[in-house]
Amino acid sequence: MAAGLAALYMLCHGVALVLLPRHAQAVSFSFLVGAPLLAAMACARRAWRSDMRVGWLSLALGMLLWAGGMALNMYQEIGLGNADATPGASMLLYVLYGVPLTFAMAHPRHEPWYLIVIDGALALLLGYLFFVHTFSFATLSDAPAPGVDNLRLMFDIENLFIAVFALVRYLASGDAARRVFFRTLAIYAWLYMLMALYINHVATEASYGGPTDVLIDAPFLLLAGMALRGDPERADTSPRRLALAVRAGSPLILPAALLVVSALMVDTHAGLAVVGFAMATLGSGLRGVVMQVRAMERQDQLDVLARVDGLTGVANRRQFDQVLQAEWSRARRSGQGMGLLMVDIDHFKQFNDRFGHPLGDACLRAVATALAGCATRGTDVVARYGGEEFAVVVPSTSREGVLALAETMRRAVERLRLAAPDAVGQIGVTVSIGVAWVGQVGLADPGSLLATTDVALYEAKHAGRNRVVEGHPPDAMAHAARPT
Ligand code: GH3
Ligand code: MG
Ligand code: MG
Repeated sequence: MAAGLAALYMLCHGVALVLLPRHAQAVSFSFLVGAPLLAAMACARRAWRSDMRVGWLSLALGMLLWAGGMALNMYQEIGLGNADATPGASMLLYVLYGVPLTFAMAHPRHEPWYLIVIDGALALLLGYLFFVHTFSFATLSDAPAPGVDNLRLMFDIENLFIAVFALVRYLASGDAARRVFFRTLAIYAWLYMLMALYINHVATEASYGGPTDVLIDAPFLLLAGMALRGDPERADTSPRRLALAVRAGSPLILPAALLVVSALMVDTHAGLAVVGFAMATLGSGLRGVVMQVRAMERQDQLDVLARVDGLTGVANRRQFDQVLQAEWSRARRSGQGMGLLMVDIDHFKQFNDRFGHPLGDACLRAVATALAGCATRGTDVVARYGGEEFAVVVPSTSREGVLALAETMRRAVERLRLAAPDAVGQIGVTVSIGVAWVGQVGLADPGSLLATTDVALYEAKHAGRNRVVEGHPPDAMAHAARPT
């Protein structure tokens, strides 16, 4: 459908040129302004439906600049009647049209505003240097013969730059919205580059109003068609490494473009070239710092997530294992005693059966908070050991100390007065606690301490629950000779 309309547009353009030979220029210019305007509208419309809003809007802006350039051409060639002039102002808009496209390629999705500001500042400077460079060999009203070659070279570099980077970004894009956007941009950019190469280097003698004008419509109409189509694209078919490398490297595109333009200006505007070099370096450096800080913050969050139990907020099993091993080794070195508690909620299965899992979870959170509230020493670590079992590492403590802590915890849970599953004769949710204490650590492995708390917990359950039972570690654990 879109392809048909595009073909119809180009056909009308061609037919109008044949039918109205005396107004060929005016007719042709109207079509040439219309095509990028259609593309701009299609891209702007797409922006509201897409996750790549900044990208599509940038593309729309690029199209508007190009349409503006062509409108200026029309004004200069028809309005002023000065057919010999090569209008510099329109050239400028053609050159600037690449800036928003470059911004779209350099700008990853979902970036915070300050990164958009950095990218935007670099894009603006890029546009300004383009402007200055363009007018070092063209004026607002004229581009003299030697300057035209330079302008053509700039167009070629700009077009190639956009086409290559759009393709690379497409190949490395992971999700559907990005793939559609960069595929559209890449197809458009390659076609545009081929068209521009032909117009600028092959059909150099052709003037506006000739049949080659119809070719110029093609990339814009194709872009409009692709932007309007809601084409589904499969997500993530590119290698992960490549995708990550391109996504991380894409912010370099703007500074790289800035460096290239600055290098072109070294002879003519040394001062501005230095500004360009400096801003390219500072911009990418600043971006690097911001990204580094964000990566470190994310790493911090991940570290917390890796250590904390998601439901209850106390340490998770992994953290418990590490703390237990670390405190065990410390106790071996220091010769101080250490204790371990294993806490299990009584009749919790019934609690779930009676009140449902969500309330079961709330009960788990309340118990965890109560236990953690008792561990006031700072060195004691309460962890969710599994299901509805908690373990508490109690370093540098006496036997009395660890037994007292266990009793405090048992009472703290009892005092919560959470509705008991079996209301008859029950005071509320309770816990049973198995305790193990070792005065002098001998073995390298705390496994037997854990086993001791398990046995003690089992005994506490069998003795009627809601109680603390002390287990007795095997002698070997306490008295084995320390390795030298
Ligand atoms: P006992 O007094 O002998 O400990 O009896 P119990 O019913 O508590 O038995 P057990 O300790 O084996 O209970 C484990 C129950 O804990 C089974 C499961 O339904 C519940 N459970 C484990 N993890 C979760 C959880 O994350 N959320 C909820 N709501 N329940 C859990
Ligand atoms: Mg249990
Ligand atoms: Mg239980």
